[in-house]
Amino acid sequence: MNSQLHDAWDREHLWHPYTSTIDPLPTYLVDHAEGVEIVLADGTRLIDGMSSWWCVSHGYNNPRLNQAAKDQIDAMSHVMFGGLTHRPAIDLGKMLLSMAPKEMHNVFYADSGSVAVEVAMKMAVQAAVARSGSHKKTNFVTIRRGYHGDTWNAMSVCDPVTGMHGAFGAALPVRYFVPSPSSRFDGEWNPDDILPMKEVIEAHRDELAAVILEPVVQGAGGMWFYHPQYLRELRELCDRHGLYLIFDEIATGFWRTGRCFALEHAGVVPDIMTIGKGLTGGFMTLSAVMTTRDVADTISRGEAGVMMHGPTFMANPLACAVALESLRIFNEQDMPARVAHIQSVISEEIAPARQLQSVADVRVLGTIGVIEMRRPVDVGQFQKECVSRGVWIRPFGRNVYIMPPFIIDDERLRYLVRQMVELVK
Ligand code: PMP
Repeated sequence: MNSQLHDAWDREHLWHPYTSTIDPLPTYLVDHAEGVEIVLADGTRLIDGMSSWWCVSHGYNNPRLNQAAKDQIDAMSHVMFGGLTHRPAIDLGKMLLSMAPKEMHNVFYADSGSVAVEVAMKMAVQAAVARSGSHKKTNFVTIRRGYHGDTWNAMSVCDPVTGMHGAFGAALPVRYFVPSPSSRFDGEWNPDDILPMKEVIEAHRDELAAVILEPVVQGAGGMWFYHPQYLRELRELCDRHGLYLIFDEIATGFWRTGRCFALEHAGVVPDIMTIGKGLTGGFMTLSAVMTTRDVADTISRGEAGVMMHGPTFMANPLACAVALESLRIFNEQDMPARVAHIQSVISEEIAPARQLQSVADVRVLGTIGVIEMRRPVDVGQFQKECVSRGVWIRPFGRNVYIMPPFIIDDERLRYLVRQMVELVK
């Protein structure tokens, strides 16, 4: 191992995501990052295919985001949100509501994607109990292959096989799961897809607060793109049977799928939606939950009379100021055209992978390109190869996928996707 690239103390003492302390996968020492490149301690430059897990939208070390942070630091980096408010939170809230479906009316700021999911689920329970007057309406139904985060409730609605049900078993609340829709995003709609969901909702409506799912693109649970018709039918079912609908747009939000929010592919509005990741352009952690006025007011008319959550760093001014600048950068551009271009380049360069024996499926939507392998990928070996070719891709399970920063130029994008295809041969 190149000692300049792998730190022995780190290996011995630092926990990385989903990592064994006995046999950890190698971690590469980063010196800095700029634009679409991550620069390692020995000077190796890696074209970033991951946007640091979906979030670095405008590239690393973006001067405008840096400036927004510097300006805010000089005013205040933090102040509590209980009893106080501030311009960054207000201006960001206004901007968010102007970008979200017009039915969204209230914004709850949280710290991370997982916490936003916790908050969304708590909101659904508080609202469902208040609306129905029944303390039984507290459970959730979701689709398999989903991913919603690593905190307790979020874990409970992640895919039971690829998620963490194995490790936590009976400690997790028991949710209802139905198969993920089989109809592809760009294929024919199979009306049978909705039937398992319909059955569960009809049978258990009295104990269900809400349906939670990722609209159109299921991310870390399977990298699956399904037909938007599923969401239209689901909306109808929820309305008919008195369930709230929660869309987790944490990964899909902010143009990843070609629309500002993936829900726009279906023209469906949820009651509650979560956002995170790209919200600050990947600068720092911030998430939010948006709801309709009806959900917000129903919670407020309930027994508690308030929404029962209030994190210390709620609406952190520094994060809000950076997020506001990030949204301005998005809104100044023709994002549909930008994403359509990235999608066409990825589609062109990824096409040869379809012919490979080792490959089960290839899918592209927006800036997301996925090669689903027939067998699980050896992540350590794969990443070693990536680094030697000057690209950064982190597969999981059988999926090798990219979602590069939106600022990537054609030359680097083509190189990145070609390496991805070479590496799965
Ligand atoms: N929901 C979805 C759809 C996600 O993709 C993720 C993160 N991959 C989360 C929730 C959790 O976000 P965080 O890691 O910021 O807690």
